[in-house]
Order: sequence, then C-alpha cells, then structure tokens
Amino acid sequence: MLPESVMRRAREELLDWHGTGLSVMEMSHRSKAFASIAEKAEADLRELLSVPDHYHVLFLQGGASSQFAMVPLNLLGTRGSADYLCTGSWSKKAIAEAQRYCTVNVATTSEADHFTSIRDPGSWQLHADAAFVHYTPNETIHGVEFHRIPETGAVPLVGDFSSTLLSRPLDVSRHGLIYAGAQKNMGPAGLCVVIVRADLITAPRAGTPAMFTYKNHVEARSMYNTPPTYPWYVAGLVFEWLQEQGGLEAMAHRNRRRAEKLYAAIDADAFYHNPVRKESRSWMNVPFTLANSDLDERFIEQAAREGLHELKGHRSVGGMRASLYNGMPDAGVEALIDFMVDFSRRHG
Ligand code: PMP
Repeated sequence: MLPESVMRRAREELLDWHGTGLSVMEMSHRSKAFASIAEKAEADLRELLSVPDHYHVLFLQGGASSQFAMVPLNLLGTRGSADYLCTGSWSKKAIAEAQRYCTVNVATTSEADHFTSIRDPGSWQLHADAAFVHYTPNETIHGVEFHRIPETGAVPLVGDFSSTLLSRPLDVSRHGLIYAGAQKNMGPAGLCVVIVRADLITAPRAGTPAMFTYKNHVEARSMYNTPPTYPWYVAGLVFEWLQEQGGLEAMAHRNRRRAEKLYAAIDADAFYHNPVRKESRSWMNVPFTLANSDLDERFIEQAAREGLHELKGHRSVGGMRASLYNGMPDAGVEALIDFMVDFSRRHG
C-alpha cells in the first residue's frame, strides 16, 4: 500500500505541478522543475537514512532483479568470487544470476529448513578474498528477516533491501552497497534505489552494457538516460510523508508493534501457523497457513469482501501472506486480526 495522503497529493498535483501548467508525467527529466523534484527526493532520502557523504544515491530502472547482475558486474573487480547468504527465494535468484559472472560461495543456506530460519553467524563460511558478501535482509516470500547486520570485516557487504528499506533506521555505513526496488515501502513500481560507497565505483567487467554500469549512472546523476520520473516523484512524496511521521525511528516502533501483534494472534490460535523461527520473523511480510488448506480460497475471498486484499501467499510456498509495509495503516492490521479471529471461530 501507499499512504493515502501521498496518493491524494499526487492526485492534486496530477494535472498541474506547482503552477507550472505541466504534470510531472509531462516534464522533461532535464527541466528545472523536475531537477528540483529529483534533488529534494534525494536530499530527503539521505536525511531519513543518514546516508554518509561518501555514498552515492542512484534512482534507476530495471528493478531489484537488474541489481542481481549489476552488483557482480561492477563490484567483482579483479576478484573471481563472492559470498552469498542464502535465506530464501530472493537470495536464490540473486545467486543464480551472480553465477553467470563469478564463482558464488554460498556461505550459509537454510534451504534444508525450507527457509524458516537464519543459521547462526558462527556457522557461516565467509572468505576474506571474496569481492563482496551479498545478503537479503528481508526475504519477502518466506517472511524471514535479519534483525542484525552481518559482520563481514573488510569485505564490502551488499544488501537487497527491496522489502524492508525505510521500515526502520539503518546503518548505511556498515554496507558497501544497498539496493531496493521501490514498490514495497517507497513508491510505485518502476524505480530502484541504489546507495553505494563511492570507492566501490570502478570499471565494470569487460562487455558490461552501458546501462548496467554504475559509473555511468553516478557520473550522470541518474540521468544517463531518461529516469523513471513519475515513480521518482511519488517516492519523494513518500519520503516527505515519512518525515512527517517522525522518521524511521517512529516507523520502526510502529512496524515492530504491529508485527508483534499479528504474530501473537497467529501463535495464540492453533488454526493458524507461521513456520519461521521467532528470532528471524519479518516485520514486513508475515506468511501463515490455515489448519485446513482447503479453506484457503474461502479465506482469501471472504477477506477481500472485508477490504483485506493481496493476502494470497506466493505460489512457491502457498498459504497466506500479510504484508505490513509502511503505507499500511494500523487499522488495516487490526482489521486483519479481527477477521482472522472471526474466520477461525467459524471454520476452526
Ligand atoms: N528482491 C526482493 C527481496 C524482492 O522482494 C523482490 C520483488 N518482490 C525482488 C528482489 C525483485 O524485484 P523487482 O521485481 O523489482 O525486480
């Protein structure tokens, strides 16, 4: 969900942005008006995340999936391998893509547990000569989240923050590169934000397409080609909204409280089950199953009638998944819990 007030503001400004007579959709990305939108969005994102000055912030296209390739293509340098932490479906996708370009050392995997936990860091096999360590702080499909940033010593840490960026404060300086598709916590689909430490921007692997070269995007300040102007603008509205909410500390407080409430409701009723180990449960994505999977369709249908949408779990895991992204109002979580209690009473 996007915050309703953001969508109302986008609607108000849709036909005429700040008296320019133009919609943001009609503006040249090189115009003064769009430059002011773009710069404000970047400044607000930097402030929200306290991004240090020696990091670049890029507003790109191609989704997080393009980053699965861009990261190895640009960060391998002269090294031939990278370490990946495999904690769910999205890490697996990142690994499969990286394997096209380098040797991937899977430093840990919880696949044997069906991705319901993150193994103890003491058991990870990290390599001091790896070009980088890649992890997925929040596994959107499996509902598994790192609640601590991995320690990787001098090896740059890369995180796919697609489904958790801006859900809480983040120590950017512990990372070499952070990327996130916008469509969960930041804005509409079509935009991918990359935050990268300046010294990691070097020549990419030979043959890397120009559009997959960070250096080009850094030098052109994300205007190497026409950027996704409208999603960039809406993301800027979301950043302003986050500031009005009290910033990321306030979001963290709210997100933790809401997730705990939903997990408590699941754990209190044997009709529902969340398989993830408690210490690795996600604040953003809460997968759960019903005691009788024959009732799944009915649950989804009846929930939709109550205005509770998008509850179907990913096709690879089945069951349900509640996503509690920043834009979800508290009342949405309360309504889901009330519905679940009622559904279990009627069908449990
Ligand atoms: N990584 C994670 C953690 C995701 O949740 C997603 C999308 N759901 C992706 C990568 C892929 O993102 P995109 O569709 O923007 O390529």
